Amino acid sequence: MEHRLNPRLVASPRSAIREFARLAAETPGCISLTLGEPDFPTPPPVCAAVQESLDRGETHYIPNNGSPALCRAIAAFEAEAHGLTYGPDEVIVTVGATEGLFTALTGMLEPGDEVIVPTPAFVLYQCIVGLAGGGFVPVDTAKTGFQLSEAQLRAAVTAKTKAIVLNSPNNPTGCVLNAESLAAVAQIAREFDLFVICDEVYRQLCYTPEIPQFSTRYPDLKDRTIVVQSFSKPYAMTGWRVGYLLADGPVKRQLEKLHQYDVVSTVSFLQEACVTALRQDPTPMVEVYRRRRDFALARLSEIGLPVVRPEGAFYIFPDITAFGLSSADFCRRMIQEAKVAAVPGFCFGAEGHIRLSYCCDDAVLAEGLARLGRFVDQLREEGR
Ligand code: PMP
Repeated sequence: MEHRLNPRLVASPRSAIREFARLAAETPGCISLTLGEPDFPTPPPVCAAVQESLDRGETHYIPNNGSPALCRAIAAFEAEAHGLTYGPDEVIVTVGATEGLFTALTGMLEPGDEVIVPTPAFVLYQCIVGLAGGGFVPVDTAKTGFQLSEAQLRAAVTAKTKAIVLNSPNNPTGCVLNAESLAAVAQIAREFDLFVICDEVYRQLCYTPEIPQFSTRYPDLKDRTIVVQSFSKPYAMTGWRVGYLLADGPVKRQLEKLHQYDVVSTVSFLQEACVTALRQDPTPMVEVYRRRRDFALARLSEIGLPVVRPEGAFYIFPDITAFGLSSADFCRRMIQEAKVAAVPGFCFGAEGHIRLSYCCDDAVLAEGLARLGRFVDQLREEGR
């Protein structure tokens, strides 16, 4: 009966990132720099808080949008840390940022509506837009240092455009949108009455203090801004599947219906633990990532692969166009011949690049980059 399924689902590709991670796992001795999975444990006080919730018997239905205490804690945290002015009643606690993105996009898209996404981009946006029957409109930033201009956005807008998705710091580049890029987005969003979805899951993993963020910079656009956040990355809680969505009251009150139909609520006995998580300081983790970022930048420069300096997240996205191989071929050969795995740029809509993740032990990273260096030397010897 597969033929009777929704063709949009059948047409959806499987994650090629997982595919390359699997290839790496199946290759004996292969070092994998593929997955964006923090290599730190979840902070112990956060884990202990789950047991305390269970001991208190917090195992029943809670309000759809999350426990009142967690919604209050999120609103207070976002106000204090990022200057955002969302009240506790403008928060939906979601099943990771993934559900937040589904809720936001499926809540606004009618078939045929278009969504502008600066690429390279996290693959999920395209999948959700496709499932909703929308049109995915990539705006290539690879030749503009991963920054946006008003002209680029203007050329991508049509009468069908509904939203622009921003992800800064970005997966896969680690780059941060500068003030000019954000101003271009604000101008186009105002002019064409668009939503701006800010995927801020890497916001706390930044290497420079004064990172401009759309949500903080344009409080006057709060009515059209939807912030999607996650506990996954800053607190090393990927398996917990908790995140949140912030939206202006009238928008949030519609979106919450989707969340209610879809998941009812997130897990009751994780709510207090998430309050505890918001009190954790991710700085020590960020310092480790920064050290690895510096190391990877230095090694890639020695190897001679051009790269735009990442200012956040835990990815680096070198340019491999010099070798004349597709990113998939480059990565396949690198796994087989050099026993090191990366994710091909095509997975993010950006041929000519590979994504390396530095969520791994320093020694593993050093060995992985040494292997990459030898592989690149070998390609050069082949005359590539
Ligand atoms: N957005 C981006 C940019 C991501 O990289 C990820 C995870 N890799 C997510 C959203 C989803 O995160 P989660 O569902 O774990 O919160």
